[in-house]
Amino acid sequence: MAAEPRTWISKDFHVHESYSSDAPIATPDKYCRVAERRGIDEVCFTTHLILTGPDVQHGISPEKIPSYLRDIEAAQENTEVTLRAGLEIDWFPEVEREIEEILDEYSLDYALGALHYVRGIDIGSRRRAPAFFLGKELSDALDIYFEEWGKAAESGLFDVLAHPDYFRKYLSLTHEMPVSFQEYGSKVLDTFDILSSHGVGIGVNSSGYRHGIRDLYPIKGFLRAAREAGVETVTVGSDCHTVGDLGRNTLRAAHRLKREGFDYICVFEGRKNRRVGLSEVIG
Ligand SMILES: [Zn+2]
Ligand SMILES: [Zn+2]
Repeated sequence: MAAEPRTWISKDFHVHESYSSDAPIATPDKYCRVAERRGIDEVCFTTHLILTGPDVQHGISPEKIPSYLRDIEAAQENTEVTLRAGLEIDWFPEVEREIEEILDEYSLDYALGALHYVRGIDIGSRRRAPAFFLGKELSDALDIYFEEWGKAAESGLFDVLAHPDYFRKYLSLTHEMPVSFQEYGSKVLDTFDILSSHGVGIGVNSSGYRHGIRDLYPIKGFLRAAREAGVETVTVGSDCHTVGDLGRNTLRAAHRLKREGFDYICVFEGRKNRRVGLSEVIG
């Protein structure tokens, strides 16, 4: 069998396993075997936690978090790959308290916040996303999106926010796609100030290459502007839901970061971040 072309770096900080209902057969053990083969030396699991709305069952139910953590520990026994335990947590204002209690109760390595639902509408669903965008000028829709994103950062709950401009996933159904960061308006700049003052990072995400936008989240220019506004924490993840996608296209994220002025990425252990040089993770 021909070797796969390498599209990954040595760290993947956005990985869904079987406690996320959209990743039913991807177990930590299986991810470890792929990581070993690909030379990926650190994997952070970020199963979905969705505490309200119509998709609660897509995520882990809070009472299963202990067994999720035990599964990761058990997988760690059989691999040299460093495993980290995180959650990708949907931010909704009405469950902030509940999220806080969960984060206090369990010792996680990484709390990744996400905004898949903007004012109750799932912008990651082909069927539902148009309900958010239709009838709105793009600039108005994006102002709302980034305002909500800023509130998620302001909550103080999360280490990093995932896929910054995730609204692009199905935006083409209703609007012409922005081609540059300059089209995002000014609200996003306020959001950078919030990220920076609250010490919240950005999760660069390579799943857009699977989603059909054929780009990273975020768009070109976003990371440079964030950095200039004082955002220092950046992580990289594939957002894989199958083991074959582990690390996929994270190398592109590393190159984008480099072009936009970063020379490191961050990894997390026990909710504390550490920088690793891009030259080290690119290899
Ligand atoms: Zn997500
Ligand atoms: Zn995800």
